[in-house]
Amino acid sequence: MANRNSDRDRSNNNRLEEELKLWKWLGDKLLGEAFNATEIADFEDLKRTVKKALFDDAENLVAKTGQNTPPINPEIVAQERKVIEIERAALDTDALIVPCKGGFLMKINNKLPVVRQRFACAHEIAHTYFFDLEKDPPSKPYRRSTSRYWVEEGMCYELGRRILMPTEMIRTWMDNATPPYIKDFRAMMRSFFVSGELLAYRIHDLATWNVLMLIFEVSDNNNNAGNGAISLYKVLKSGDVKHVHVARRGLKVKDPVLYELLSRAFKGKKEVVEEKDLYISIGNLKREIASFGASYIGSYPPKVIAILCLR
Ligand SMILES: [Zn+2]
Repeated sequence: MANRNSDRDRSNNNRLEEELKLWKWLGDKLLGEAFNATEIADFEDLKRTVKKALFDDAENLVAKTGQNTPPINPEIVAQERKVIEIERAALDTDALIVPCKGGFLMKINNKLPVVRQRFACAHEIAHTYFFDLEKDPPSKPYRRSTSRYWVEEGMCYELGRRILMPTEMIRTWMDNATPPYIKDFRAMMRSFFVSGELLAYRIHDLATWNVLMLIFEVSDNNNNAGNGAISLYKVLKSGDVKHVHVARRGLKVKDPVLYELLSRAFKGKKEVVEEKDLYISIGNLKREIASFGASYIGSYPPKVIAILCLR
C-alpha cells in the first residue's frame, strides 16, 4: 500500500517537474532577462506569468500584421511565426506543422468547413511557440511526454482563440452588447468569422458577461427538432455564474418552455429567439431567468446556443 502511494507520488513529482521545465523554458524565451528578474512565488504564479506573456505575444503578432478589425486572417499571422508555406491537403487530422529548413510547413485539412480551417490555422500557429525558432529547422527543446503534450494542447486552444479574437477587438463589442446578448453573439460570429462554440469559449475566457451559455444538439435523426429529443451538449460559464451547476452532456430537455424556445431556434435558423422573465428548469438549474436568447449556430450535427442571464 505504502509502496504504491510512493510510486504515485514519484510519478506525480516527475510530471510536475517536466511541466515546470516547460514553463520555465517558455518564460525564458518570451521574457528573457525580465523573466529572470521577476519574483516568482510558486508554480501557479510561474504559470500565470508565462501564460500572460504568451497571450500578449500572440495578440501582438496580430497587431504587427496591421489587422485591427475583424475578421483576422490567421494565414498572415502565421508568417510572423516562420510559417513559410501553407498547404491544403487531405489529412486525417485538422492540421499540423512540419519543421523544415527556414521555418515550418503548415498543412490544413481541406475537407474542413472554412471556419474550422481558420481555427486550425490559428491553433497551429500557437504550436510554433513550443519550438525553438533559433534552431534551423526549428526543434523542440525537450523530449515528448504526455503531461507536456496536454499543457501544450490546452495552451494552443486558448492562444488560437486569442489570435482570431484579440482581446481589445472583442472587448469593444462585448462592452457595447445588451442582454441577453444573442443578437450581439450572432453579429460577432459573423464579423470574427468563427464558430459559435469557439466564440462561446472566448466569452468564457474573457468573463465580462455574467451569463450561462448552454449549447444543445438534436439527439436523434429528426434533424429539425420537429418532435425530436434535444439534449445538452456543453455548458460554458462566464463571469459571476461560476458556481452554478447545470448538468452533464447528454441530459435531455424536458422543460416544455425551454423545449419550445429551443425548437424555435432550431427551426428558424436565421432568427434569434428572445424572452424575458422566464422560469427554466434543466438539470440542477431551476430558477428565474432575467433574459434568455437562443440561436442556431449551425455546426454538424446542428447546434443551438442559449444565453441565459440569471436573476
Ligand atoms: Zn494541437
